[in-house]
Amino acid sequence: MPKDRIKYLRDEINIHNYNYYVLDNPTISDYEYDKLFSELKDLELTHPEFTTPDSPTQRVGGISSGFEEYKHKYRLYSLDNTYNEDELRKWYERVQKEFTEPVELVCELKIDGLAIALTYKNGLFTTGVTRGDGIIGENITQNLKTIKAIPLKLFKDTDVEVRGEIYMPKSSFEKLNEESKEKGDKIFANPRNAAAGSLRQLDSSVTAKRDLSMFTYTAIIENGDYLPKTHWDSIQYIKELGFKTNPNIRLVNDIEGAIKFCKDWETTRFNLDYATDGVVIKVNRFDYQNELGFTSRAPKWATAFKFPPEEITTTLLDIELGVGKTGAVTPVAILEPVNLAGSIVSRASLHNFDEIKRLDIRIGDKVLIKKAAEIIPKVIKVVDSEIHNSLPVYTTPKTCPECGGKLVTREGEVNLFCENSECPSVIKARLEYWVSKEAMDIDYIGPSVINQLYELGLVATPVDLYKLKYEDFFKLENVKEKSASNMYHSIQESKTKPFSRFVTALSIRHVGKETADLLVNECPSIEDLKQASLEKLSAIEGIGDKIALSIYEFFHNDKNLKLLSEFENLGFTFENTNLNRTEELAGKTFVLTGTLISMTRDEASDKIKMKGGKTSSSVSKNTSYVVAGSNPGSKLDKAEKLGVIILSEEDFINLIGENK
Ligand SMILES: [Zn+2]
Repeated sequence: MPKDRIKYLRDEINIHNYNYYVLDNPTISDYEYDKLFSELKDLELTHPEFTTPDSPTQRVGGISSGFEEYKHKYRLYSLDNTYNEDELRKWYERVQKEFTEPVELVCELKIDGLAIALTYKNGLFTTGVTRGDGIIGENITQNLKTIKAIPLKLFKDTDVEVRGEIYMPKSSFEKLNEESKEKGDKIFANPRNAAAGSLRQLDSSVTAKRDLSMFTYTAIIENGDYLPKTHWDSIQYIKELGFKTNPNIRLVNDIEGAIKFCKDWETTRFNLDYATDGVVIKVNRFDYQNELGFTSRAPKWATAFKFPPEEITTTLLDIELGVGKTGAVTPVAILEPVNLAGSIVSRASLHNFDEIKRLDIRIGDKVLIKKAAEIIPKVIKVVDSEIHNSLPVYTTPKTCPECGGKLVTREGEVNLFCENSECPSVIKARLEYWVSKEAMDIDYIGPSVINQLYELGLVATPVDLYKLKYEDFFKLENVKEKSASNMYHSIQESKTKPFSRFVTALSIRHVGKETADLLVNECPSIEDLKQASLEKLSAIEGIGDKIALSIYEFFHNDKNLKLLSEFENLGFTFENTNLNRTEELAGKTFVLTGTLISMTRDEASDKIKMKGGKTSSSVSKNTSYVVAGSNPGSKLDKAEKLGVIILSEEDFINLIGENK
């Protein structure tokens, strides 16, 4: 019966979601999961009468016109904050004096995310609402459904309201920002902002693509099989219902135990993949909680201990100017070294010159610097006005610190730019980027070698690198036969690197490694790039109008065209990568695992790309081949499970036609 099969599939998928997203312990392959999922989808399409709101297929998004206000059934109180041990002890004294027995406490990490309330009726997820002001929030049920750590159906038919914190893992936050930066999209200041921005999308399919999760920490059970008597027991019950809870929780006998928990996590928290800003301490027994009650805004039976701010005051010794490969000149704060959140900081970001002016930052000022764990430290403000007033106002530079060229502003950019194409800083920054791991990945050539080659007048453009003769390298400091030979060959061999590396290395504005890959898939030769119309470029998935325009302008600039023709004369083999494409590799996806003997994984990956193949870091049903070196690890197991073709190193070398 389709109905029974549908129910079976839903239960299976729900259990696998739970294993994967709540327990972090998947028990089937993505392939098997996808098979179950698409069978369910097909069955629901042919039998729409059996579709229900708790079906896992309902996790995909749709568009809404706005979020409705929603009055919370139970008010979400805020917590009073405490900032030191004394305040914690005083709070505990006030609590303890109401009781004769010692008052046990539960300590939990305070996740720096967004509080939400979820309602379940008969074990089914019905409504999800933001905290708002604690009385009225916004109904964001559709978006919350896309978060797989939120169960659509509980393991028990309970009527319950739970509260939790939605967060984005730091690693996902960084990845999202990197992608946004490359595309020229909005950059989020911290993981919490990224989570908030992702949650408040009118198109929930966008939310679905963001990596969000939730820790649940409170349950108000209206109708269930059991009523816990303590907070500790209720957390266990929350877990039994199928929610994800934070494992870093401790039951302690008194406030000293709680203080120890706070101290333990003060620095350890930086190792977690999510942001935390304190510890929540709650009286464990619910009868005690009821007796203590609330003030007008917060419960008396709980407090939030805030971690010491990741901020500190130090002296601004100097403002250094950095010149990047785009010519952007950025101010960097040189600081009296201080210990900030566990590391010594002597440099910090000053954003841009407008920001220096806005904050009236002067050299010699006492400044407050701040470090969120995931971001480089930055100067927040000036703190001592007496010293400040005696210092000269900082004047924004008008000329490039390196070449003396006039600095200009560009539309839509906050930075100042040195537009002198001969500027040594810009030239060196471009050359450094050319040889970097991200671009051409040329071994043995680093910033110091580039600097010397430039100062000696041997190189000014990437083309010059390829014109260097073996003898030239002896002009560098401490260079003997071996390293001269290494440097020379490393440069020459880079001529055969994949076309996408070359395109990355060109430093086209807004085009990083990932965009270059996308571009090269559509335009596999220089000729294709020169001829690509603006329409064609903007039609490439992942390339927006701004990037397309930048690419188009690059390939219609006389100077660049001249440079490209010089490259073509140097014997680069990328000219038409189609010639290198082979039937065996074109369009195929490879996953490399384990250690190869005859080449590094990077080299193998380059060879694959040169022949028209792609590489991926994870095995899925779309993987064509897994190349297994020694000590391959779990990717091999997964490949075996999915029935993906597994190649030994020798097989791989045969396939790419390098078996000489
Ligand atoms: Zn300059």
